[in-house]
Amino acid sequence: MKNTTEYQQKKILVLGLAKSGVAAANLLHKLGAEVTVNDRLPIEENEAGKALQEVGIKVICGGHPIEILDDHFDVIVKNPGIPYNNPLVLKALDKEIPIITEIELGYHVSEADFIGITGSNGKTTTTTLLFDILKQGKKQPLIAGNIGTVACEVAQTASSENLIVTELSSFQLMGIEEFRPKIAILLNIFDAHIDYHGSRKNYVNAKGQLFKNQTEEDYCILNADDEEVLSLGDSNKAKKVLFSTKQVLKEGTYIKDNCIYYNQDNVLSLKDIALPGKHNLENIMAALSAAKILGVDNETIRDVLHVFTGVKHRLQYVETIAGRKFYNDSKATNILATKKAITAFAKPVILLAGGLDRGNEFDELIPELKNVKTLITFGQTASKLERAAKLAGIESIQHVDNVEHAVNIAYELSIAGDVVLLSPACASWDQYKTFEERGDMFIDAVHKLK
Ligand code: ADP
Repeated sequence: MKNTTEYQQKKILVLGLAKSGVAAANLLHKLGAEVTVNDRLPIEENEAGKALQEVGIKVICGGHPIEILDDHFDVIVKNPGIPYNNPLVLKALDKEIPIITEIELGYHVSEADFIGITGSNGKTTTTTLLFDILKQGKKQPLIAGNIGTVACEVAQTASSENLIVTELSSFQLMGIEEFRPKIAILLNIFDAHIDYHGSRKNYVNAKGQLFKNQTEEDYCILNADDEEVLSLGDSNKAKKVLFSTKQVLKEGTYIKDNCIYYNQDNVLSLKDIALPGKHNLENIMAALSAAKILGVDNETIRDVLHVFTGVKHRLQYVETIAGRKFYNDSKATNILATKKAITAFAKPVILLAGGLDRGNEFDELIPELKNVKTLITFGQTASKLERAAKLAGIESIQHVDNVEHAVNIAYELSIAGDVVLLSPACASWDQYKTFEERGDMFIDAVHKLK
């Protein structure tokens, strides 16, 4: 860990706990800062808050009283989930107190270089895949972020031999000042989180933050099929490496004769890839570009892609039972993700969908529903999905109580050779605590079929 003196004796407010806030508070305390923590949850229910109090950190819990800012703070470390229209955050902005996220702290103490991965969709998949390739290629990667450990914690254990591979949301990127990834990857930009950012322009600008400190010595990997992504790269000084699933490029990563090429070198054949889905090709090509920049050989890349079947709950292959292949895509909490999942399969699937009702009528899903032979619905949106399925001409439609029942009915209604896909197109909160819980229920029910 770099022994930075930057935060010594600085008064720092850590806003919002959760995993990242706890890690940030502990790190800052260790670095000699005068830390105050503020969290929404009352102290009686706040185990993390109590633990921080015990090490001598000042903890204010049970809300975000604006008066906290009557005290002078040099910096605020904000949990990425707290929006900028929170009254306390607005007041801090007004007082021109710098607001950072924990990734910035991680960067300041890290001896290792960072590989930062962002995009509206595909971050976790690309991060995990790249980590696997680099590990197999003996590049000593460490993984940080959403899956795994918080970046500022990983950074403390990293040496200059390591590489920290981390996914970064637009929320996290809003809070960087000097963070400079050696390699930056921007996968795609769709409409997302407009409520948080206020406008699409602000959202796109937040993604662009990833490049702002890069220099000629760094690399940025960009999706050449996405105009907005490309234009964000325009003002960037880093070396550009483009990838495209649609065009044959002169340089970078592209597809020719059913093989993936990197700078005219045939790296692997598409048929050697285990991960299903056209959208995943983007993630694969982005990860492959980074691996090639870092000197990983083709054989290693081929070996990993041959066995990498995806991240849990993201179009994850579960098992084949009596010839039926079961896939868990519980992370598909919106229509776009389910559209991608259905089209990942060449022949019509048995789709399990439904969940929290956010007022959508699912008309956008109708074109893809043509690739569904049976629809099994559950949750608040069941009847809305059934309406869309009828409009798409699906004759076999079943309504069940929950995911577990859906698995049993799917088995009964399917034949050997079928694909059974859980891709709900909805959040899980009407029936399950998280999309992970919903996916686990699906996996359990599939295993029980045996
Ligand atoms: P993120 O971390 O950005 O949320 P994930 O890798 O967890 O992304 O994938 C979430 C969902 O997004 C997947 O279930 C899949 O349906 C969809 N998805 C993944 N990669 C892409 C991509 N490159 N383009 C479009 N959709 C994608």
